Amino acid sequence: MRRYLIAGNWKMNKTNNEAIDLARRIVLNTKGIEKIDIVICPPFTALAPVYDAIKDSNVRPGAQNMYYEDEGAYTGEISGKFLKAMGCEFVIIGHSERRKYFSESDTDVNKKIKKALSFGITPIVCVGETLEEREKGKTADVVKKEIIGALQEQTDKEKIIFAYEPIWAIGTGKTAQPEDANKIHNLIRNIIKTDFGMDETVVRVLYGGSVNPSNAEALMSQPDIDGSLVGGASLDVKSFVEIITTSANLA
Ligand code: PEP
Repeated sequence: MRRYLIAGNWKMNKTNNEAIDLARRIVLNTKGIEKIDIVICPPFTALAPVYDAIKDSNVRPGAQNMYYEDEGAYTGEISGKFLKAMGCEFVIIGHSERRKYFSESDTDVNKKIKKALSFGITPIVCVGETLEEREKGKTADVVKKEIIGALQEQTDKEKIIFAYEPIWAIGTGKTAQPEDANKIHNLIRNIIKTDFGMDETVVRVLYGGSVNPSNAEALMSQPDIDGSLVGGASLDVKSFVEIITTSANLA
């Protein structure tokens, strides 16, 4: 039985004081919700105070990115080793914004996943197509290429969480039709089973792309959708908590 997971990706938002305040409110408003996993991914600068604010709660500590080397002359980077030492349990890897603005390749994504797993940090690996790719009918090819890139020579593969995030739906207010999203989630399960011999029934596949309180129920009710990676709506306590509550009611 797969547990729903709702993860908030705060992106480059929130000073430390704002982040602590948001984290405290999320903790307060999700008390007693035990049936699903709740994760928040603040910016690096706010990890320490936010992790402190959520300790002893049911909100789990996440991060938005990590580097695959442990330490050394990599100015500006943060390693999985550092995240582990802070208590990080989940890390987003290969978000489309990182692939687009920071030129992250499938090889980088693969190395980061390997390193995260080696530290016992659960990677949330993002895949998804651009609008142009979608219009050219290339969605399946793009998703397959990214999944194959991510899974090459990995061990502990079933621990990886995937997030299908159609790029045209991120931050745009446009969401994939629930049935269409479910088809891609189903495709992801087929790829991991057929190409990598994984047990597709245990791997969690999240949906991301303008999820909000009004579309959460329709999306989360789909059989192959196991939760969501939430961007914009995770910055607003009321919206994020509503998405969490809706998912918990379906669990
Ligand atoms: C995201 O950043 O992963 C995301 C899905 O953003 P939004 O919910 O704002 O579309």
